[in-house]
Amino acid sequence: MPSVHIKTYGCQMNERDSEAVAAQLVAKGYTLAASEAVADVILLNTCSVRDAAEQKAIGKMQNLAAEVRRNRPGVVLGFMGCMAQSRGRQLIDTLPDVDLVIGTQKFHRTADYLDDIFAGKRDKVVDTGEEQGSEAAIKEHILNGSGPEKSVTAYVSIMQGCNQYCTFCIVPYTRGQERSRDIAGVVAECRELVARGVREITLLGQIVTSYGRREIPVKDGRSAFVQLLEAVHEIEGLERIRFTSPHPKGYGDDLVEAYGRLPKLVESAHLPVQSGSDRLLKLMHRGYTRARYLDIIEKLRRVRPQMGITTDIIAGFPGETELDFEETLSLAREVEFDNAYIFKYSPRKDTPAAAMPGQLPQEVKEERNARLLQLINEIGARRYDRYVGTRAEILVEGPSKKNSARMMGRTRTNKIVVFDGAGRHRGQIMDVRINRAGSFTLYGDPAILNLE
Ligand code: SF4
Repeated sequence: MPSVHIKTYGCQMNERDSEAVAAQLVAKGYTLAASEAVADVILLNTCSVRDAAEQKAIGKMQNLAAEVRRNRPGVVLGFMGCMAQSRGRQLIDTLPDVDLVIGTQKFHRTADYLDDIFAGKRDKVVDTGEEQGSEAAIKEHILNGSGPEKSVTAYVSIMQGCNQYCTFCIVPYTRGQERSRDIAGVVAECRELVARGVREITLLGQIVTSYGRREIPVKDGRSAFVQLLEAVHEIEGLERIRFTSPHPKGYGDDLVEAYGRLPKLVESAHLPVQSGSDRLLKLMHRGYTRARYLDIIEKLRRVRPQMGITTDIIAGFPGETELDFEETLSLAREVEFDNAYIFKYSPRKDTPAAAMPGQLPQEVKEERNARLLQLINEIGARRYDRYVGTRAEILVEGPSKKNSARMMGRTRTNKIVVFDGAGRHRGQIMDVRINRAGSFTLYGDPAILNLE
């Protein structure tokens, strides 16, 4: 059977989609190629959130067409995901070497389309249609086999799409309307993962706090998302639950209260704020104010004082004045984020913000981005330093990415801890004493590991 290599751009949702496609292909008899140099099929799973991400994938495909295709004319080349959805057939028109364009509701059709291409039944395939039930099709996992490399953490896709229509964001156009899986299906997938050795699950979606809003009624004041958390929490053998990405609007009291009574729900929240200025939050169509955002943070820290809080911020949104930007800086100081992903505003095709007056020059975006980054790094360094000399509970995930002779784990607050451990520690929950803080990484002292 042919071998496949998938290269993924963008977010964790894309990583998860690629993993599911790979698992579906393996189930059909395809093998996974170690690199594109030896693959019979090369698929690029694309991202549209910023123009740079699209250009990168297009550039990569041009290289594949020029280099790989020239030497191995039988290689099948394809685009999947967000850019495939938004550009569709146009990708084949401009890059005629492309054989396959698979949209965000059609990932699960990839194997069938490849079968058809290899059987000579089709020459080119473009499928970017909507498909009812496609949100439940992302459920197979690879988990790196069953040996010592086996993953102890896994992502589970609980929903697709977004109805919030933030004015800068292309996601509602590439991922479609919100569609949620049912609770039983998600729980069954999580249960199977735990049976295969997974100890931590991250529930995934474009706006997870909107999970099941239409399909699942509120019960005893608890939203569908909180009901799902409760159901996953019941799974024996599962140690930790995370989720991403939520929306601040979804942090009702039921969710805040869930942190107080569901111990597997870790003290970690990624709460995208985007701006500290109410004027800009309104222009962005975010649906909350600075005061409401700060109120959520305060409530979360009241329930779980150790809560690690990260965020996303856009620098240089159209019309952002120096005053607006300073409000973002002051919000970052007030919240003391553990870390933040800062993005220079990038106009996206057909989004309202792309046509707004007051588009800022690149130098202004760059300068604000750099100032914000410096502040976030200073705050992050202070927050990480506070861990030095304390004990932290970590789940050991495997060898450190930067130094495979050492092991790495993650605290409940989502901090990476590197320490001298052994392969047998993988999957263990253990206490380490933190003796040093680096740039967004903590280091444990092996001499005083507590392995009780
Ligand atoms: S909530 Fe998130 S995914 Fe939805 S439109 Fe806004 S930024 Fe995009």
